[in-house]
Amino acid sequence: MIVDVHTHVWECPCHIADRFVEDIRYTAGAGYKDIHVDLERHRQAMEPVDRAIVLGFRARHVGVLVPNEYVAEYVARHPDRLIGFCSVDPQDFDAVDQLDHAVQTLGLRGLKMGPIYQNVAPTDSRFRRILKRAEELRIPMLIHQGTTFCADVSLEIANPVQLQSCAIEFPRLPVVIAHLGHPWINETLVLIRKHRNLYSDISALFYRPWQFYNALVTAMEYGVLHKLLMGSDYPFTTPQQTMDALRAVNRMAENTNLPRIPVAAIEAMIHRDTLDLLGIG
Ligand SMILES: [Zn+2]
Repeated sequence: MIVDVHTHVWECPCHIADRFVEDIRYTAGAGYKDIHVDLERHRQAMEPVDRAIVLGFRARHVGVLVPNEYVAEYVARHPDRLIGFCSVDPQDFDAVDQLDHAVQTLGLRGLKMGPIYQNVAPTDSRFRRILKRAEELRIPMLIHQGTTFCADVSLEIANPVQLQSCAIEFPRLPVVIAHLGHPWINETLVLIRKHRNLYSDISALFYRPWQFYNALVTAMEYGVLHKLLMGSDYPFTTPQQTMDALRAVNRMAENTNLPRIPVAAIEAMIHRDTLDLLGIG
């Protein structure tokens, strides 16, 4: 089965503040494209995969507020293909109640968090109470723990090493670190190597081809290719583009003695039993 573990739905401007889009525009330069997601286009983009995880996103600090109800309503229309994850903002005093509601009433099956966007460090008690409840609810978490294009955020709380104490405290919580925690890819790889319930997705990296190639080679040398999950970060890329880029990654080594990623390891990543690994199979 092919699973895209990382996709977004949102409407601009009603779910996303102008300043978020402006920061994308500034960092993308000539490569800027509209990130508004049309639900019908999302569904079509997911045709090459068997299942896609659709993420909610609540981060008032950067002006992103995608309602959990919106995600739940969309995935309910395609229950055989789409799986919804909720999001809660740790700055909300009732964040744990929101999580209970999203899982027990709306039927969402995982949690998406982004400390850098939410401006609450993973080591903060407001963050940890949410993880404690997620572990009790037996749902997985996908977390953006890496850098971003947003200006008004703290890189000091974004390093994946900040997740170490959570990994130790909540050993039964399956965690996916998005984008290999870029640019702290080495930190992510050594973290997922030592913690059984930690994984990482390779989404939205391939358009930096040298970094992407090196990340996979380093993952191979640490013996953690089997813990990497396929994801697109739609609408930033599509699953088809991501699979094509994975299958082309060894082009970087053509006519050189540089290491190659075995084709079997690439196909295994694309066909990973991601939902079983996350306990939602
Ligand atoms: Zn994303």
